[in-house]
This record gives sequence, structure tokens and C-alpha cells, in this order.
Amino acid sequence: MNTALIRAACGGDEAKAPASRRSAGALQSLPSVVGLGLATLLASCAAPVERVADRAEEVRTVILRGRVICLAEELHQRYGAELPTNHEHVWALQASNGRGYTLLRSHFSEAIWLDERVRARELELKARLFPGTQALEVQRLRSVVRGVVQDLYYYCDICHIQSVTPEQCACCQGPVELVEKPLERRSD
Ligand SMILES: [Zn+2]
Ligand SMILES: [Zn+2]
Repeated sequence: MNTALIRAACGGDEAKAPASRRSAGALQSLPSVVGLGLATLLASCAAPVERVADRAEEVRTVILRGRVICLAEELHQRYGAELPTNHEHVWALQASNGRGYTLLRSHFSEAIWLDERVRARELELKARLFPGTQALEVQRLRSVVRGVVQDLYYYCDICHIQSVTPEQCACCQGPVELVEKPLERRSD
């Protein structure tokens, strides 16, 4: 494991937070499990008012690395959570900082739902993290191949059009192909 990368992904956004908001960070550093996002969401309903007020109230933009997992399957394996036959996958990012983040389905995260090759990758997500949750709204999706961050997009060879989802080309309705291009030289 590349500890520098983990530190960057993990400490980067915390370090920039003003001192007044550090206490919220301390709260979040309780032993975390994949389901913490959900657990936090539920717990916040019953939590004392001052504890809720203690949390960062702002939406934060974070950059996180990790792998996509199905929260339902993970919680089933870890804690015996019920897993119905033909369950609907609940995609989450198991980040290199040890925390699990539930992914919201949106234009920029759509490839995770539609393309299993993307789910199999190590990913670097730029996303909005919402107060009192571990829910991410993806704003930019990149992959990491052998330690090198890749620009990831879909491309139509005929129309020379890039897109962020693997759906058919908006112009010619033809198939698009997955492209990954290195953005940086590996540092180690
Ligand atoms: Zn699943
Ligand atoms: Zn096209």
C-alpha cells in the first residue's frame, strides 16, 4: 500500500478544515465500518442537539480513493444483514482512509452502475460530501492503474465525442468505448 497516497486521500481535506470544525473530524474517526454512512444518518435522528450542532454543517468537496463495493453484500457478510435474492446493489466507495461512503446515482457516477469494468477499478472520486452523512455525490470519476491516476471517459470514434457514461453516442447512437489515459507519472 502506498501510505503517501492514503495520507493524501485521507488527511487532505481534514487538514484544511478550520480548527473550529476539527471536533467533527474526531467524531467521525470512531472505528468505521462500511455502513457508517447509514448508521450515522440513523443515529443523527436520535442524537442530542449539541452533538448534531457540533458536526460540520457545510457540504464539503473531497477527493477519495478506493474501490466500489455493494453495501448490502458487505453488511450481509460482516453482520448478517438480510440480503434478499436478486437484491438491488447499493454501491459504495470503500475508501483507502478506511471509511465507507454511499454513492448517489447521478450523471457523473452513472458509469459505476452501468459498467462493471469501472466497478472493478481502483477509483479516485472528486465528490460532494453532505453534512451528517457519508453520502457522496460524484463530480469527477477517475481510475487508478498501477498507482497512476487516469482520466476516464467514453469515446465515439466516429463522431469524436467524449462522454462520461457508457450509453450509446448522443450523436450517431453508436457504441462508445472506454478510454483511460494517464494523467500523471507515478511518484514511487
Ligand atoms: Zn449487491
Ligand atoms: Zn457517435
